[in-house]
Amino acid sequence: MTGIYWFQNDLRLQDNPGLDSLSTADRLLLVYFWPRNQPWFHQTGIGGQRFRFLVESLQALRDELRARGQDLLVLEGNPEQALPQLAGQVGADIVATSRAAGYYERLTRERVAARLGVPLQVHPGNTLLRENHLPFALEAMPAQFTPFRQLVESLPVPAPVPPARKLPPPPDIAFLDIGKPGVKPHPGLPIRGGTASGWRRLGQWTSGDGGVASYKETRDCLDGLDGSSTLSPWLAHGCLSAREVAAAISAHEAINGGNESTRWMMFELWWREFFYWRAIRDDVNLFRPGGAAGKLRRCTFDPRNFARWSKGDTNYPLVNALIRQLLATGWMSNRGRQVAASCLVNEYNIDWRYGAAFFEKHLIDFDVASNYGNWQYLAGVGADPRGGRHFNLEKQAAQFDPEGLFTTKWGGFRPKQPDYVTDAADWPLPGA
Ligand SMILES: Cc1cc2nc3c(=O)[nH]c(=O)nc-3n(C[C@H](O)[C@H](O)[C@H](O)COP(=O)(O)OP(=O)(O)OC[C@H]3O[C@@H](n4cnc5c(N)ncnc54)[C@H](O)[C@@H]3O)c2cc1C
Repeated sequence: MTGIYWFQNDLRLQDNPGLDSLSTADRLLLVYFWPRNQPWFHQTGIGGQRFRFLVESLQALRDELRARGQDLLVLEGNPEQALPQLAGQVGADIVATSRAAGYYERLTRERVAARLGVPLQVHPGNTLLRENHLPFALEAMPAQFTPFRQLVESLPVPAPVPPARKLPPPPDIAFLDIGKPGVKPHPGLPIRGGTASGWRRLGQWTSGDGGVASYKETRDCLDGLDGSSTLSPWLAHGCLSAREVAAAISAHEAINGGNESTRWMMFELWWREFFYWRAIRDDVNLFRPGGAAGKLRRCTFDPRNFARWSKGDTNYPLVNALIRQLLATGWMSNRGRQVAASCLVNEYNIDWRYGAAFFEKHLIDFDVASNYGNWQYLAGVGADPRGGRHFNLEKQAAQFDPEGLFTTKWGGFRPKQPDYVTDAADWPLPGA
């Protein structure tokens, strides 16, 4: 039997049920498709740091596979066209993949299945619980986080599964070079893609004197590695499974005792879980301006304001610093994301999807469910019971960067500019 495993955002060998399902095949082709370059809300392509982390994750996976007599075929193009061709070329009897969240991801899977000519098996995605563990049908899933958490947090999270001891050999096919990323990691967040570096960070974070024990006090820190786990890039690419992170927290608690901080860290993994299942449930509504409930909010699009926000050149120094940190490192803290998003949505009244698309391009931890779910939440069209968040940007700066160190470090203090340089008919305003 010849199988094809189609990797998506599950770039790991361990705890990967779809890959395990093909471990007894006679021949196995492992394939990945580069993300598609689709224009979306003034953004195309993916940012340098996000691309770097992806290339490193693919290269690390390929190295692990080669050490086991396997390889990874990385292709440009549409899976819906290329997979049926590949299946014909290698005489595949079955293709397997995982259930990545997202509307386009679902459509792509369906188109692949329709054209393939052999079965497409879709295995569970990177979550703590499987759909059949959930104590509710997805259609009846709570729309807000707290009732969801109350229903799931006491359920046992199954232990992660180690990688299969042996993988079947690949069919006779030419494997292509993956290429090199164009940028290096920024010293502001010197982390690399791949499971081994993810495990190193997880081990460091959950060791006896690791950050997890004081996470509740430090998690609002604006710089990575100092205050929060920074595990999101490995989780988003699937170099680590969510169950591995949960198991490491439990092991830390078993040895060092649990506290508010370790519980809070689990709480955040449940947030991730919540957004995954909501994304599956909400499907295309995750990308609609009014979300699943169709709650439209008034917005406008001033190109100059969007350009200033996305360059980090507004009249809000903290927001500038946050955007500049994102452009340089590919990462921003959770607090930072909320502040930057509130600025776009509430100060500039821009459709939240412009901000979500900009984050999608640049975040090294871009995850469709968490990104669009959090943007909807902030804009008041998603899961927030309070109907959105409008932060007082001066107060946020005073509370989270009282001495302006972070803002100075990232070059956030910019010369003030007039907010309006043209009138409603686009004529230049006098003095602007
Ligand atoms: C506007 C906006 C956009 C976001 N976009 C993304 C995104 O594309 N990808 C992404 O992984 N997270 C996203 N988040 C959630 C959160 O900001 C990041 O997960 C977190 O900052 C990552 O840093 P960390 O790994 O140090 O998190 P920690 O604080 O150490 O948390 C541990 C893990 O819990 C999960 N988590 C924590 N907070 C959240 C949350 N609010 N929602 C969902 N999961 C969470 C992440 O997997 C994270 O790695 C977004 C938040 C906002 C407000």
